[in-house]
Amino acid sequence: MTISTEVQQRAATLRELINHYNYLYYVTDNPEVPDAEYDRLFSELQQLEQTHPELLTADSPTQRVGGEVLDKFAEIEHAMPMLSLDNVFDQEALTAFDKRVRDWLNTDQPQIYAAEPKLDGLAISIRYEQGVLVQAATRGDGNYGEDVTANVRTIKSVPLKLSGDNIPAIVEVRGEIFMPKDGFERLNQSQLDNNKKVFVNPRNAAAGSLRQLDSKITATRPLEIYCYGIGYIEGAARPASHTEAMSMIANWGCRISPELKKLEGLEACHRYIEQLGERRDSLAYDIDGVVLKVDNTALQERLGFVSRAPRWAIAYKFPAQEEMTTIEDIEIQV
Ligand code: NAD
Repeated sequence: MTISTEVQQRAATLRELINHYNYLYYVTDNPEVPDAEYDRLFSELQQLEQTHPELLTADSPTQRVGGEVLDKFAEIEHAMPMLSLDNVFDQEALTAFDKRVRDWLNTDQPQIYAAEPKLDGLAISIRYEQGVLVQAATRGDGNYGEDVTANVRTIKSVPLKLSGDNIPAIVEVRGEIFMPKDGFERLNQSQLDNNKKVFVNPRNAAAGSLRQLDSKITATRPLEIYCYGIGYIEGAARPASHTEAMSMIANWGCRISPELKKLEGLEACHRYIEQLGERRDSLAYDIDGVVLKVDNTALQERLGFVSRAPRWAIAYKFPAQEEMTTIEDIEIQV
């Protein structure tokens, strides 16, 4: 079937727009549109490509992980790629995800999922050799990230040395660096007092603070971390499940989300999402959804990956809180 020129043009426009927004968001930390608008465009492109697979190009933003590496930082190759997550926005799509997982694993049994908040910050990979922090890198394009080691060392909740037993020879701890809401308010107030640019939201403030060339500036910023996974590991077996990995990491002194829960079956996931959604505003930090991961490592390995995201995990996105007006209001104040 030939695709109409109109559809081809729309796909090209979407690719161009999304690439432009990606650049502003990931490279300059200066988004021009709210996330909800970005997500709408992204879903539209994904749907067009699903309906017309001929439209799919290798360089489509739907096939790639977020950003690129700014040349002001040294480039680091990740020992294991840092991927993105596929999104769903409602219960039906989550149900479809659970069905895909069970179909792929060829089982009717309810799955065990690990659930945790989807923190709205930026991903980091921290490499420990013999338990000592040697390197920290942003996600970048997923294969290459930026060397922000000096900046990450200034974050007090990041251990410079792991403690406890059974520390692997080499391990990459993965997590999200974020700025709590109260720290964000204080930072913006002080930016205003000093006639400096204010930040659009805590995510943007966290990214801007971590990607400073002068780590003394980063040290003054209220950044925190929650760790959510293990990347590369050498000299120790990979833990048998996500929840086991999280206990291990916590025992080494890394900070993990107190909201992490092991859930059996889809209904329990729906309930978790609903309950966390109700508490969203009262949390000390911004979240934009819930991440659900098939807990068992062997099953994760069977499920594997598609181009930019694992098949064994999904981000359930909450309705957006921030719309463009927020950005405009803030810009007017500057
Ligand atoms: P994502 O943020 O939707 O999901 C992947 C990321 O989630 C991971 O890299 C990790 O950093 C994070 N994460 C948080 N908590 C986690 C947990 N518990 N376990 C695992 N990962 C966790 O994907 P993305 O590619 O980073 O960003 C895409 C999103 O960014 C879009 O959906 C959009 O909302 C936003 N965005 C906005 C603009 C804009 O112009 N406004 C541009 C680009 C992207």
